[in-house]
Amino acid sequence: MAKAGQGKDKRTATRLTNAGRDPRWTTAPGTAGGVVNPPVWRASTHLYESMAALREGRPNEDGHFYYGRRGAPTQWALADALTELEPGAAGTMLYPSGVAAIAGVLLAVLKSGDVLLMTDNAYEPSRTMARGLLRNCGIETRWFDPLDPAAFAAACCDRTKAVLLESPGSLTMEVQDVPALSALARDRGIAVILDNTWAGPLGFPALERGADISIMSLSKHIGGHADLMMGSASAGPRWYTVLRRTAQQLGHVVSPDDAALALRGIRTLGLRLERETASALALAQWLAGRPEVSEVLCPMLPGTQGHALWARDFTGGCGLFSFVFKGRTSAARDAFIDALELFGMGFSWGGFESLAIPVDPATIRTATRWPPVGWSDADRFGVRLSIGLEDPGDLIDDLEQALAAWNAA
Ligand SMILES: *Cc1c(COP(=O)(O)O)cnc(C)c1O
Repeated sequence: MAKAGQGKDKRTATRLTNAGRDPRWTTAPGTAGGVVNPPVWRASTHLYESMAALREGRPNEDGHFYYGRRGAPTQWALADALTELEPGAAGTMLYPSGVAAIAGVLLAVLKSGDVLLMTDNAYEPSRTMARGLLRNCGIETRWFDPLDPAAFAAACCDRTKAVLLESPGSLTMEVQDVPALSALARDRGIAVILDNTWAGPLGFPALERGADISIMSLSKHIGGHADLMMGSASAGPRWYTVLRRTAQQLGHVVSPDDAALALRGIRTLGLRLERETASALALAQWLAGRPEVSEVLCPMLPGTQGHALWARDFTGGCGLFSFVFKGRTSAARDAFIDALELFGMGFSWGGFESLAIPVDPATIRTATRWPPVGWSDADRFGVRLSIGLEDPGDLIDDLEQALAAWNAA
């Protein structure tokens, strides 16, 4: 008979099967046994039995009925599951999207007059947030080279209160030395926030590697089926309390239906990541051998930037990587993407279906240049691939015929 917290100390696949399935969330009062999955509790109003019970209500504790904005068992089960999967976490806040999670965390950690350091490879909406919402709140952002801990140390000042890391970085896949950067930040009293969407807790136990707060877009791997928007932030006791207070002030809540979908995604997360990682590696290797390709940006592939750090710090990978064409034009790249038959064209990733989008970071960056120093300026047209669950042989055939279209363009 399943008990609360069962499987917490077990290996990953077992933890994914049991995470969040606390009998408090799967059993109706007065019944034994319950159901496998936490049911969808659609509720704004939570009812009390008596005035005494209402007065004893504990709105500021987790897992207590109060009002729908503080969630109900479906959302609590998902938050519990994500906390169980993140070693060192005391709790997890859920947000209506990954971007809402980033905004919720930054607004919780920073206040007017503070300086935020942001890695130059950050997800573009994080940069937009810094130049808009954060600037309007009196928070200044400075960008630094993701691969240069000395540049990070030099950028710190006594007003620096937080750093936003992302490893591997969006689009360009630089792997950061998170333990080294975290140690530098800790010495200076700077909170370390990591956008850990690429690896998630299975691939990179963020808090154990030095981060204070680990953010994920659950719209990617956890949802896993291209039909869900959600974000999360997990942290130890100190920062969890801060995140929770701010999320409540901002009124952040997720729907129980979406929480149930995310819980369903967790059950197959390990299998999907295993398959997507293996396929991505096969495709990356194949692309690295092609004359049309100048660089493959995939830290799982030996010989690429970040592979040594990935091998040292990561416990897994995923299906997302990029590559850069050798010279030619943006029109040739368009011809390649248009010719793909099995890859959809769209701005997300981590789903069961493969996707491709163009990569053009040159205009986004401020602290570093693209293409990086040492590359030919002509090698600038990139493509990001999100590898799904299709047969990798079919995906390679598709890339091959699309490369023929690139050559013919
Ligand atoms: C997609 C993504 C986000 C934002 O998540 P949404 O759920 O789309 O808001 C944040 N960070 C990274 C690295 C992402 O890829």
